[in-house]
Amino acid sequence: MTQQYSMIINGQAVAGEQGTYPVINPATAKAFAECPCASVNQLDQAVDAAETAFKEWQHSSHEERKTLLHKIADKIEENAAELAEIIVTEQGKPLPLAQMEVGGAVGWTRYTAELEIPVEIVEDSEHKLIEMHRKPIGVVGSILPWNWPLMIAVWHIMPALRAGNTVVVKPSPLTPFNTLRLVELMNDVLPAGVVNVLTDETEIGPAMSAHDKIRKIVFTGSTPTGQHIMRSAASNLKRLTLELGGNDGGIVLPGADLDAIAEGIFQTAFLNMGQTCAALKRLYVHESQYEELTDKLIAIAAQQKVGQGFEEGISFGPLQNKMQYDLVSNLIADAKACGAKVHAGADIPENEGYFIAPTIVTGAQDGMAVVDKEQFGPVLPVIAYSDIDAAVAAVNASENGLGGSVWGTDLEQCQQIASKLECGTAWINGHAEVLPHAPFGGCKMSGFGVEFGQEGLLEYTTIQVVNINR
Ligand code: NAD
Repeated sequence: MTQQYSMIINGQAVAGEQGTYPVINPATAKAFAECPCASVNQLDQAVDAAETAFKEWQHSSHEERKTLLHKIADKIEENAAELAEIIVTEQGKPLPLAQMEVGGAVGWTRYTAELEIPVEIVEDSEHKLIEMHRKPIGVVGSILPWNWPLMIAVWHIMPALRAGNTVVVKPSPLTPFNTLRLVELMNDVLPAGVVNVLTDETEIGPAMSAHDKIRKIVFTGSTPTGQHIMRSAASNLKRLTLELGGNDGGIVLPGADLDAIAEGIFQTAFLNMGQTCAALKRLYVHESQYEELTDKLIAIAAQQKVGQGFEEGISFGPLQNKMQYDLVSNLIADAKACGAKVHAGADIPENEGYFIAPTIVTGAQDGMAVVDKEQFGPVLPVIAYSDIDAAVAAVNASENGLGGSVWGTDLEQCQQIASKLECGTAWINGHAEVLPHAPFGGCKMSGFGVEFGQEGLLEYTTIQVVNINR
């Protein structure tokens, strides 16, 4: 990555008033570029710009917004190679996965462009007409994580714009450049101030959550940060969409066709090196098939190739940052100390990068940290069960409730068990699949509000009822 990227306030490229900070390439553990560091004063400028732009943007027609979102999708497509390169360099994932992320960003943008916001008729009688309108909220603040940085930026920004809001976005300090470039491309198309982007290491996120001119925060990240945001948001009763952590459990029913499901289980647990909120993070397998399935998973793990994201043929990159690397390494060490067996598949490169081999933990049990805590990394604990109800209870024992899954051949039985899972999405013979038209969100400590589909779009609106006495 040779190019410099700037923050954008009111359509202008600006440097950070607080200087810059270094960004690390996780494949080398070395800084590769300097990122602008915004001041709180610059946050005020960005919010003012977004508030001013909102005055006109909220009245732009649906057709106009649709057309502009498609133009943004064109821009992302035209610059796909550069965006994928940035993602590999700062996030660490293998290039094909980064290309998939950029492709997803295009697809989601086009899908969101085409959504409608209809006026609903509540009553239409002789003396009365009651209509329900959906109005934009105002300035939306988007706070992003580091795992799928471009995709999640698109998930936040596009529905906000489609509904007529303006946006101030703050990427994770660990993966800022893809979002800076995205917003730069968007500003080639949009009126000044409609989308603004700021980067920094620590201050801007909390300042956004407390800002009295930001009307809604959409946040994807950890549960403790979500709780901070919710506390600060009380100051001006901000609307919130909180997509927080998960510790998704999956249950393999007795008699499952293991040849059919083993690869799917592996891929959905280790998607993006396991750094996916709705990845499969705990697998409960009936004791009758435990050994056979874990052998298959260990064999698949051993076939993986771990390396730097641009290397040809690799399927696993490094973890994104040192903190996550330490957390996952400690969970694996703790599982071993607790008597579980750790099977590390594939060799890892001998350099300073944050590499961990895809790891299957057998003999895992509830109560071990590797099972009870969200690992957010390339490790899957597999737990044997004898009683299905007990397995369902164990899956539901987590304070999180993002996703869950049931794997088996009898779809009716799978569905019956899926209905007992306490989570926002229950997959059958799958996991971690998110789609632009299927609402997605968590319950319990995984947050509230949904993204995607009509329901996701309407989260960026407030209801205005027009009550007409004829
Ligand atoms: P994080 O909470 O550490 O950081 C996320 C963002 O919040 C960053 O931009 C950070 O700068 C900002 N931030 C930090 N402290 C803040 C504060 N006090 N106020 C406002 N903003 C603040 O999360 P992360 O480590 O980037 O992401 C990993 C976590 O995100 C995992 O728990 C994962 O499960 C979750 N996640 C959830 C989803 C989902 O859709 N549910 C998707 C991806 C990741």
